[in-house]
Amino acid sequence: MKALVKAKAEPGLWMERRPVPEIGPDDVLIRIRKTGICGTDIHIWNWDEWAARTVPVPLVTGHEFAGEIVEIGRNVEGLSIGQRCSGEGHLIGRHSRQSRAGKFHLDPETRGIGVNEPGAFAEYLRLPAFNVVPLPEAIDDEIGAILDPLGNAVHTALSFDLVGEDVLITGAGPIGIMAAAVARHVGARHVVITDVNPARLKLAAEVADVMPVNVAEEQLSDVKARLKMTEGFDVGMEMSGNQAALDQMVENLVMGGRIAMLGIPPGKSPVDWSRIVFKAITIKGVYGREIFETWYKMIAMLENGLDVRKVITHRFRVDDFAEGFAAMRSGLSGKVVLDWG
Ligand code: NAD
Ligand code: ZN
Repeated sequence: MKALVKAKAEPGLWMERRPVPEIGPDDVLIRIRKTGICGTDIHIWNWDEWAARTVPVPLVTGHEFAGEIVEIGRNVEGLSIGQRCSGEGHLIGRHSRQSRAGKFHLDPETRGIGVNEPGAFAEYLRLPAFNVVPLPEAIDDEIGAILDPLGNAVHTALSFDLVGEDVLITGAGPIGIMAAAVARHVGARHVVITDVNPARLKLAAEVADVMPVNVAEEQLSDVKARLKMTEGFDVGMEMSGNQAALDQMVENLVMGGRIAMLGIPPGKSPVDWSRIVFKAITIKGVYGREIFETWYKMIAMLENGLDVRKVITHRFRVDDFAEGFAAMRSGLSGKVVLDWG
């Protein structure tokens, strides 16, 4: 089969021929139809310090996918050949306290497809049947291929009650933009999204009914005044990984405000802890998706009016994968989807 492989410990990805994976009794084999390129895949392409430390070479990359089940292990029940599906890319252990308590997304033994284990940038993917998420009619393959990052957005956005609340999202990357769409969908009052990249802010306003703010040009205090907000935002979602964005968020939250933090700051970033204490702010770190509650809620919302399709800005045939990665690396794209035919 064709697969996009991290074949060498240097920048790049290579299209290679690989054997079709053999499945075990509890697995399924999925014929991949569409995949999404993630920021993580860019780290792996660039072969930065994190990637070099984390990714074994050679490895089939990729973790955002939609496809069709073509083979089923003998222990597997409830799935059928021809079933369209996506799936959770975090492979969990069954031994930890959290896993045995059913909090699968908190399992410390988690291994990621396309990061630690063979991934989805291939014609065929082996996946434990446990991880499969069947796709309803209403969700086509290209939306199916971005459910992993949409799940990050949904997990973050549903961390706190947003109904009637004023929400600040820092970082209008694909995940921040989708989180803004979710906040709007579930009934937030004002949804403000910040970035320093005008292209990203323009895309945010195209995808969701939100107020984009370029923090390189405008102060959030002025935005609050314009919206007649006397105190501050009730809930913050940090989606940039940028220290300045987190500082601005803390500064512009109400007393007792809540922050869901998905963005990954570089290394040990300085935080003004006394500010957080005196404002009585709650911070929740968000990792991955709740397995499978996030998937359940995300699909229900997509079936009931949540529309994030415009966040997909580029579509390429997989043979043109280099163009897809170039679009992602430009910082101007939303989601980039590769078609495996
Ligand atoms: P992205 O890099 O595409 O988007 C981040 C955006 O933040 C960019 O548009 C950038 O211009 C913007 N930004 C930079 N400085 C800013 C500032 N001062 N104020 C506001 N915005 C600023 O990332 P993404 O793919 O949308 O992912 C969002 C974040 O979530 C990233 O940090 C990513 O590493 C992280 N992430 C975490 C998890 C998890 O499980 N915790 C999963 C996926 C992604
Ligand atoms: Zn991803």
